[in-house]
Amino acid sequence: MNWKIPLADIDLGPEEQEAVSQVLSRKWLTMGEETGQFEEEFAAFIGAKHAIAVTNATAALHLACVALDLKPGDEVIVPSLTFVATANAVRYTGAVPVFADIRGEHDLNISPESIEEHLTPRTRAVSVVHYGGFACDMTQICELARQKNLSIIEDAAHAPGSEIDGRMVGLWGEIACFSFFSNKNMTTGEGGMLTTQDDRLAQRLRILRSHGMTTLTWDRYRGHAFSYDVVDLGYNYRIDEIRAALGRVQLKKLAANNARRRELSQAYWSCLASRVPEVSRPFQEHPGISSAHLMPVLLPRGVDRLVFMESMKAQGIQTSIHYPPIHQFSSYRQAEKGQTGGLERTDDIGAREVTLPLYPAMSEAQVDEVVGAVENALGAAGKLNLEKKQRRTGAGLERI
Ligand SMILES: *Cc1c(COP(=O)(O)O)cnc(C)c1O
Repeated sequence: MNWKIPLADIDLGPEEQEAVSQVLSRKWLTMGEETGQFEEEFAAFIGAKHAIAVTNATAALHLACVALDLKPGDEVIVPSLTFVATANAVRYTGAVPVFADIRGEHDLNISPESIEEHLTPRTRAVSVVHYGGFACDMTQICELARQKNLSIIEDAAHAPGSEIDGRMVGLWGEIACFSFFSNKNMTTGEGGMLTTQDDRLAQRLRILRSHGMTTLTWDRYRGHAFSYDVVDLGYNYRIDEIRAALGRVQLKKLAANNARRRELSQAYWSCLASRVPEVSRPFQEHPGISSAHLMPVLLPRGVDRLVFMESMKAQGIQTSIHYPPIHQFSSYRQAEKGQTGGLERTDDIGAREVTLPLYPAMSEAQVDEVVGAVENALGAAGKLNLEKKQRRTGAGLERI
């Protein structure tokens, strides 16, 4: 499909090519200086004490669950309106993800009240997702966690550079997980990062990332060590030097690209408000500073979303859904007797959400074009829907 306006686009240039080719000519391809530098620079950007680079954010989330000692039977409260990896990572440890509802139409993040409603004596942690880069209410969630003695994992896959209440995302929970997958705000193709303020957790995460081993190839190469012990059941979740080098260049561009994304989001909101006010605009009044990873909108109830998206496609505009709620997937309906109740807002909004194109190289004119297409698609989807209803009720089409 040759999209006129794709959902996302990567900002890659000669700087990235140069950085990668330098790594290749140096011939040291994993766990070397690039990885160390990338971790230091990312930690400095967030203001975190430690940053640990890994192969992807799913691995980061898994390591977070392992490092927090989650065990079979433990419960972790997670949102259902997120990418499946948030909940899968909990299940890898044998712990049970328990889904909490979102706040509502204007804030698609996990609701602190719903977290509280889902607490049981087995609840050990909460894994929060900063949807689209718009931070959760961390002040309230951290206070609740403190009272109930729960750990917090931040799934910050969308949110490098986001802030709330004057504090960066990635500094609120015990551990935060960032993604550098190819459609995220900064990318290494596949890649991820953990941040933590806790020295003990940082050391454990480093060991778990590399087979549970106490020394690394790089230390042995530098003559710092000859052998090693294995002190934990670890994994191979390492990033490589090529991707670390890519990440360092991408990190330099992140703040400016996030700022451009915020400008475009503002342009979308004002254009949508004037041309299609019936389409709802989550997060428009959200506090804090967003990385503006996504541009979600909610279609009016009764509009056929598939027809809407088909019409957008016919106009050359790629759209997506963030997300089909996790509790509705077969694997989750079958596991742990399947949770259904208490997720009414997730079910409602999960069925109406559509994500519009957003990437730093977009122009205001393209934003305008997308909104024009939304207007057309709404006409098509609304009308078709009306026709379908009338067919069902036996009413004549000639009366439209
Ligand atoms: C992308 C994403 C992940 C997984 O990231 P990977 O780096 O692809 O493993 C996890 N959670 C959320 C919310 C995501 O958007």
